[in-house]
Amino acid sequence: HFDVLIVGAGSAGSVVASRLSEDSACQVGLIEAGVMPSDPDIADPLKWTMLQGRAYDWAYRTVPQPFTANRVHEWPRGKIVGGSSCLHAMAYVRGHPDDFQPWAVAGGERWSFSGLLPGFVRSEAFTAFDAPSRGRNGPLDVYLPEAEVSPVVRAYIAAGQAMGIPVLTDHNSGELAGTSPNSLNIRAGKRLSVADAYLPPEVMVRPNLALLTAHEVEHLVLEGQRATGVAVVCDGESMTISADRIVLCAGAVSSPLILMRSGIGDPDTLKRAGIRCRADRRDVGRNLQDHLLALGNVYSTKKPLPPSRLQHSESLMYLHGSDPTRSTGNPDIVLACVVAPSAAVGLNAPPYGSAFTILCGVTQPTSRGRIAPSGPGRNDAPIIDPHYLETEHDRAVFRIALKTARAIGHHRALDEWRDVEILPGSRVQSDDELDAFIASAASTHHHPAGTCRMGGDADAVVDPDLRLNGFDNVFIVDASVMPTIPSGPINAAVVAIAETWASAPPKAR
Ligand code: FAD
Repeated sequence: HFDVLIVGAGSAGSVVASRLSEDSACQVGLIEAGVMPSDPDIADPLKWTMLQGRAYDWAYRTVPQPFTANRVHEWPRGKIVGGSSCLHAMAYVRGHPDDFQPWAVAGGERWSFSGLLPGFVRSEAFTAFDAPSRGRNGPLDVYLPEAEVSPVVRAYIAAGQAMGIPVLTDHNSGELAGTSPNSLNIRAGKRLSVADAYLPPEVMVRPNLALLTAHEVEHLVLEGQRATGVAVVCDGESMTISADRIVLCAGAVSSPLILMRSGIGDPDTLKRAGIRCRADRRDVGRNLQDHLLALGNVYSTKKPLPPSRLQHSESLMYLHGSDPTRSTGNPDIVLACVVAPSAAVGLNAPPYGSAFTILCGVTQPTSRGRIAPSGPGRNDAPIIDPHYLETEHDRAVFRIALKTARAIGHHRALDEWRDVEILPGSRVQSDDELDAFIASAASTHHHPAGTCRMGGDADAVVDPDLRLNGFDNVFIVDASVMPTIPSGPINAAVVAIAETWASAPPKAR
């Protein structure tokens, strides 16, 4: 029996377990379906794209997406201590302060950017320079590279600068609009997962912290308005683990699935999956949001391209499509320069070392999807339907993003490197042709969020304390509670949510 049982040792769960176990009087259990990382490739920043599909990837797939040429999209998610932060691309971007305004409206000032700022600062070890909004002594290293940045990325930044796009020191110290080398969760040249940062050996030896790996949670064990524990499977054996408080940190795919397998969700959805409904909560699994990137606007090079010394995708550029020179406000498009050919499945990419790519996407998509169980058990694959590019807004902004990527790719500042545009290729010019390319090339940026949204309204899945509505002692703390997706990659915001919640964890009622 635990005082607090945390489900999922991913980004959020690692933070929550580390912070709550600082109180030696609190018995903390941390349950993880995966095991400790042992694959040396995880630590190598250059190998991040090769980890997908390995034993520690949940390897989800979406249903065919009508607005992306009916393609099924692969959704890697970490099934390992460290969760998706063991698979991610390590880019650290807090987002724009305006991203968190809808959160403040939904849940109060604690969830505004200034409310989350102490959590961002507390989490961070950033030593490149001093800034009042930055943390120096937190567990999570944020590394700002200089000498390692690829020459082609330098030329891309110069192209942006020549077009009047602001050049920033980094994306986390002031404005988001502009370009800079990416800040990365890298320590001494190696990936730093959130578990590496928050659950080092000196934390794991705490007598009041127990990590149970290879334990997969099936569902909550409910009694009236409370959960008395969770039903888990380990080595084929079923058991129940009990606790006073349960904190779901299973991520944007799994947290809503665990609720729905427990009978908490939309009655029709549950009925179709053969699950008895215990609590009618229609918004569980809805409000799914994700970023897409078009892979990609690919250029062959005139001379061999030296390999990346970082993690291939070295510089994000955030822009206002209507005015790329604007330096303030929340940008609506994102570009990324990759020191490699990066083409979607089915599109022909040239060999490594002979091409670079500019990826492009939309920072604040308005399409909303959903996740539902296909059956009552943990082995029934989820139905993931992100409704990619369903809104005209998303398609129109994407088109502008691709046009902007091409303007930069063809700029004279890249003359030394660029030979010819391979994808989409010079024949693709009209809006219809651009739209068709985007539909065939858009791929997940790996940021699913929002499926257990926080809010003050009765339909919200969790309340502003992140307590599951209608239940006294169940909380959800992970990417699923975001009411809206932030503009940048979302791991920094997940960590800030977890830090903020754990700094004043609500009691069971
Ligand atoms: P996760 O980190 O996914 O943690 C959930 C944990 O719960 C996992 O360990 C999982 O195994 C466990 N779990 C799930 N179900 C159960 C169950 N039933 N029982 C027990 N345990 C369970 N973000 C960035 O900011 N920058 C990037 O560069 C970036 N790149 C990415 C690239 C890839 C390929 C991927 C996959 C993600 C990327 N992300 C990036 C996104 C980022 O990693 C995630 O948003 C973040 O890790 C989500 O944190 P979380 O705690 O919500 O979920």
